[in-house]
Amino acid sequence: MTEFHSVTAETGLPEGDAIPGNSLSDVQAACAAADEAFDSYRATDDESRAAFLEKIAEEILALGDELIVTAMRESGLPRARLEGERGRTVGQLRLFANVVRLGQWKSIRIDPAQPDRQPLPRPDLRLRMIPLGPVAVFGASNFPLAFSTAGGDTASALAAGCPVIVKAHTAHLRTGLLIASAITKAVEACGLPKGVFAHLIGPGNELGSALVQDPRIAAVGFTGSRSGGIALMKLAQARPVPIPVYAEMSSINPVVIMPEALKARGEALGAAFIGSLTMGAGQFCTNPGLLLAIEGDGIDAFATAATAALETAEAQTMLTTGICSAYNKGTDALAGNAAVTTLARGKEGNGTTKGQAALFQTTAAAFLADEALGAEVFGASSLIIRCKDEAELRAVLNGLEGQLTATIHMDEGDTALAQRLLPLLERKVGRILANGWPTGVEVSHTMVHGGPFPATSDSRTTSVGSLAIDRFLRPVSYQNIAPAILPADLRDGGGKAPRMIDGVLHTN
Ligand code: NAP
Repeated sequence: MTEFHSVTAETGLPEGDAIPGNSLSDVQAACAAADEAFDSYRATDDESRAAFLEKIAEEILALGDELIVTAMRESGLPRARLEGERGRTVGQLRLFANVVRLGQWKSIRIDPAQPDRQPLPRPDLRLRMIPLGPVAVFGASNFPLAFSTAGGDTASALAAGCPVIVKAHTAHLRTGLLIASAITKAVEACGLPKGVFAHLIGPGNELGSALVQDPRIAAVGFTGSRSGGIALMKLAQARPVPIPVYAEMSSINPVVIMPEALKARGEALGAAFIGSLTMGAGQFCTNPGLLLAIEGDGIDAFATAATAALETAEAQTMLTTGICSAYNKGTDALAGNAAVTTLARGKEGNGTTKGQAALFQTTAAAFLADEALGAEVFGASSLIIRCKDEAELRAVLNGLEGQLTATIHMDEGDTALAQRLLPLLERKVGRILANGWPTGVEVSHTMVHGGPFPATSDSRTTSVGSLAIDRFLRPVSYQNIAPAILPADLRDGGGKAPRMIDGVLHTN
């Protein structure tokens, strides 16, 4: 059996006892148990399932400081960030508990029979959403709590009624094991079948691939690299029965500073931009990796302020040596590009995992001529693009790949330009925000953390917020099914969930 070690982010070195990995037969056993648990788990009533999600939250909190200290060591992220992330993880589970109770996710629709309709009678038709089946979750390295073992994918799949099998992220194995123990305790306390949750440790390209290929797995949630996400999409499509893969991959999150905002507050925006860029060593999927502005008043003040702020940025520990070396490769490529100017580098750090912040500048013409300039550099690196005019700004935005976010900074005088850009941005991204920074994703009913490829593999969905539950559901229509055998929610007067009856929405 392969053994693994927990790695300390600061040193890149293994720490503590070996952790046994799982074998391919463990994958099969977990899939069999999940498949067996599926029917009884999906039949749990709303209150029991909501209580289970809340119990997971309670058990995570009961892990106490050991969880935070372990995650700090494995990720290199500071205490305040991880305490906030734990709050978000727990809040997310509680949000989904309320979603389950509200019942809107079932999308109940009833079209009563019309036996006398001419020329043909209408049958009695009823629809509800049901869960897809066991879900494989590949957590993210950059959110060891909120996007990993008990993160958004796991919470939304469990809320939908799907058992979950997590492929542990090797960058935070001990953190993952602690969270997995909390989920397992909740499974036991709620009297649910064991197969509702499993946590497997092993290499992605062997154990992870086997998991995605197992015929009992019905969907995949993934957050990570573009190459990893695409590999899993291909595997899932090549199965005898293809399944959906919800992969969140790469995004450079363009920020546009509009002319009037630039004129009025270029300097302040320059400093604020670097604050967002360097947060968490820049290891956010919504990191502002591209900044666009039209030549004019305020652009130099903006660049000067951003340069000054970046020069004072401390080097920060990155999540893994691999992520740090990919970051260095990306910044070296930008620095070595003849069409790019290095405006500033942050302070240097000691060790193999310290990321040195970087700020680059180029012209719209150069950006349009070189596809490589639009590649994600995961970390605190950003590229300012100076555009001659609105046409160039539009051309750059138009040429971008799909993104998670687009940000506009605007004053009143920028309204007309913003109005013109909005339809273009809608086509490119999942979330458009004004006068803020894209880092910081609210977990709410209206959040979209998604977007066209390669931001995600399926732009119709989100991996954050209550709408994430939809990824793990599918509709079933029941035609002329006798009330005695209809699911309770679909019977006349059955259940508390809102329902659309003959096209009219009814809520209790
Ligand atoms: P990753 O290498 O894609 O790994 C994510 C997870 O997927 C890991 O559990 C990994 O397992 C598994 N995996 C990767 N490739 C696989 C394959 N071909 N088959 C099966 N499983 C596979 O991502 P990462 O290590 O977290 O970060 C690396 C890079 O991802 C970063 O440099 C950054 O570019 C990007 N990233 C993007 C985001 C975002 O939100 N957009 C977030 C985090 C990272 P193993 O580790 O065992 O291979």
